[in-house]
Amino acid sequence: MKGFEKFYRRKLQERWDILQDEGILTKDDIKCLRNTVSSSELGNSMIENFIADYSIPEGVSFHYLIDGQEYLVPMVTEEPSVIAASSHGASIVKKAGGFKTKIKQRLMLGQIIVENFKSFEKLNEGIENEQQSLLRIANKAHYSLIKRGGGARWIRCRPLADDLLSIDLAVDVREAMGANMLNTMLEAVADHIRAVFDENVLMSILSNYATECLAIAECSIPLSVLGKESFTGEEIGRRIVQASRVAQVDPYRAATHNKGIMNGVDAVALATGNDWRAIESGAHAFAARDGQYRGLSQWTISDEQLKGRIELPLPVGSVGGSIGILPLVKINQRILKIKNAEELEKVIACVGLGQNLAALYALISEGIQKGHMRLQSKTLAIAAGAKPDELQQVLAVMNKTKEKNSATAKAAIDKIRR
Ligand code: NDP
Repeated sequence: MKGFEKFYRRKLQERWDILQDEGILTKDDIKCLRNTVSSSELGNSMIENFIADYSIPEGVSFHYLIDGQEYLVPMVTEEPSVIAASSHGASIVKKAGGFKTKIKQRLMLGQIIVENFKSFEKLNEGIENEQQSLLRIANKAHYSLIKRGGGARWIRCRPLADDLLSIDLAVDVREAMGANMLNTMLEAVADHIRAVFDENVLMSILSNYATECLAIAECSIPLSVLGKESFTGEEIGRRIVQASRVAQVDPYRAATHNKGIMNGVDAVALATGNDWRAIESGAHAFAARDGQYRGLSQWTISDEQLKGRIELPLPVGSVGGSIGILPLVKINQRILKIKNAEELEKVIACVGLGQNLAALYALISEGIQKGHMRLQSKTLAIAAGAKPDELQQVLAVMNKTKEKNSATAKAAIDKIRR
């Protein structure tokens, strides 16, 4: 791979030329890459070895009535049926009065890992005694946060192993997700731990297990509105509760239950420029908080109502990272009409619960494939080479076939072209 030397230093055109010279891409491929890139070459300033702007479709989801206010929710996803399901789940909840949310606090946690410490008790006592001066050191490292009403709130010492401990720092990061801010503050405190406490710091970094940044969304739906086809509302409710129980007791099901929730959570996180990997890792760690991996949402029945509840860490920002850079993010914030990061947290938690309701509803009644395959046919047809003006005809042929796969999509295209 000699031609790739100093690839990161090359201009964009030179990178494309290298990919072509190396026989990896054709002239037509390069044309395709070039067509994705805007004149500002924004991506080039955001990441390393940039070669193209990879686009993922964006749509809007309807019917989110949250704490009395209606939201239009932008979602970025490559998966068919996610947005349709989200709107369906939200519409059921809207008929029942909408979602209610709770946010206790928005603190981000960071860790300073100390190895081969002398005495846990002594260091713990030292940290407690010096709590105020350590918080001052942290705040000095990113002073603008104080001016915005945020800053370091508490610090604690936690044993991890015989030779390892974590000094956890909790920071109010205001409107940001806060990873960079926190990392700066942690490194300042770590320097002090090394110099004054004479301890060995292994590393310092934000924790994505954002247990001090939890969002709760709830809904309560009369069983009477849940009936569908041959199922009564009571039966639908009972089956949703059973499905929810399965996700509490079986990690195999819990992982899929939570994947469905994250379909919605990630799509809004992406649309709003947030770090969805951070949210994913925090959510899954939280799902396993008592030692067993469980569903993030739970459904119960009481007083003739199906009651849903989701609680998950949502360390999102309304500023910082790529949020202020990507033009679509600004537009999506306007579509959402959110005032701050806390409001965004609330919306995302509701999308997770709405998405989950739609998935469970479909699973325990008609099954998920009927709706899925209608949309999946479209993806299959496009992948098999259907042109936009052929799509409707191809789908009409595919709808008549029992099996929906790439072979039937190809056959449908051949049929309409004959
Ligand atoms: P930034 O580094 O962009 O910091 C936030 C910025 O927002 C600061 O420049 C701050 O200004 C500005 N700001 C303006 N108004 C406000 C306000 N009201 N409240 C708070 N800040 C405000 O981003 P973050 O620190 O949020 O870090 C997020 C980024 O870090 C993401 O891109 C993430 O992917 C990445 N990251 C994630 C990690 C992880 O998850 N483990 C690890 C490392 C990075 P000022 O400078 O004046 O304070």
